[in-house]
Amino acid sequence: MMILIKNGRVIDPFQDIDDYREILIDGSRIQGLYPKGKGPKADKVIDVSDCIVIPGLVDMHTHLREPGFEYKETIATGTMAALKGGFTSVCSMPNTNPVNDTTSVTEFIIEKASKDGACTVYPVGAVTKGQKGEELTELGALKKAGCIAFSDDGHPVTNSLIMKRAFEYSKIFNTLLISHCEDLQLTDGGVMNEGFVSTILGLKGIPKAAEEIMVARDIALCELTGGRLHIAHVSTEGSVKLIRDAKTRGINVTAETCPHYFCLTDEALKSYSTNLKVNPPLRTKKDIAAIKQGLKDGTIDVIATDHAPHHENDKNKEFDAASSGISGLETAMVLGIQLVEQGILNLKQLVMKMSLTPSKIMGIKKGTLTVDADADIAVINLGNKLKVDSSRFLSKGKNSPFNGWHLNGTVEKTISMGKIYEWG
Ligand SMILES: [Zn+2]
Repeated sequence: MMILIKNGRVIDPFQDIDDYREILIDGSRIQGLYPKGKGPKADKVIDVSDCIVIPGLVDMHTHLREPGFEYKETIATGTMAALKGGFTSVCSMPNTNPVNDTTSVTEFIIEKASKDGACTVYPVGAVTKGQKGEELTELGALKKAGCIAFSDDGHPVTNSLIMKRAFEYSKIFNTLLISHCEDLQLTDGGVMNEGFVSTILGLKGIPKAAEEIMVARDIALCELTGGRLHIAHVSTEGSVKLIRDAKTRGINVTAETCPHYFCLTDEALKSYSTNLKVNPPLRTKKDIAAIKQGLKDGTIDVIATDHAPHHENDKNKEFDAASSGISGLETAMVLGIQLVEQGILNLKQLVMKMSLTPSKIMGIKKGTLTVDADADIAVINLGNKLKVDSSRFLSKGKNSPFNGWHLNGTVEKTISMGKIYEWG
């Protein structure tokens, strides 16, 4: 069936397009792109007046929780949440149970995603067996089975020699290492940013250095080995500086941040809401300013979600005992639009950071609306107002600190491999 999407403002950074275009979809692929009014006859016409039409978003950092934690999220619910947020591809982190450290787990995820997944799922394999930081996984075999990158996300690889070897092997297999930067000795049971607010609240703090020490170490190891490094969930000014310096020196490093690191500070924790507990923790105004500057000048390449859904029993506890994480897929895009409103990014740059650039870093053929590309598309109405209602999330995880927020912009439709989902 041929579908024509018309009257939308198409933004596709890859083709350097920001103009009115008509998009013809044939099955799961894009058949043609035409100037306004020049599209051919189709079986179905979708009028997207007043909307922007962008490549489906790509999330480099998603916790789908399956296998093992299906009470928090499943591949079925997580991928539906992705679609509702405008994402058509997600990279699933390996901290499942069992950990994605063997080809049988990778194959399970791929098979389950092909059956239950509403969008495309790319597994990320573990760097070390059981994510214990002791023994490397078989990167080559895991890559062959379908892992597109490697990370012990949720945990750091504490042993520097093991991390060095991981870089050396990742070079042999031409793959990317994604680093969760945390010095566990410095974290030492901390639950929020260490500073003035943690002192007032009487909660144990995590110093910024816990992140920055590992960012510096992994940049050094990346430089030493000539590997490829991606820093996950950057939260501090110091990390931004280290990454900027590494890029200036030509080191092969990329970085992501998440909406909560440019929308919220540790001040918000005065409410003691455990939905604000996240790892790394929410920082200060100064860090937010540095992260915005990093996004603006290209130091931070990607906005990822670190979608971390939890069951309410895991959050409905005293602060120290509650699980860390935010259910982020369904709010990331609209929170990103705030950066456009604040003049930090233009729309094309925002779309790059949430679609084209993560595709390039992960080496996947997504993130563009070129002819013959997969028909993965998001339709966004920037004029609509959204009141975030986490009780209506499609994710099982309702743990959002943005619940009740009023934001500009709504995801109207998502098209995943030619299949249309309407949210209106
Ligand atoms: Zn992490």
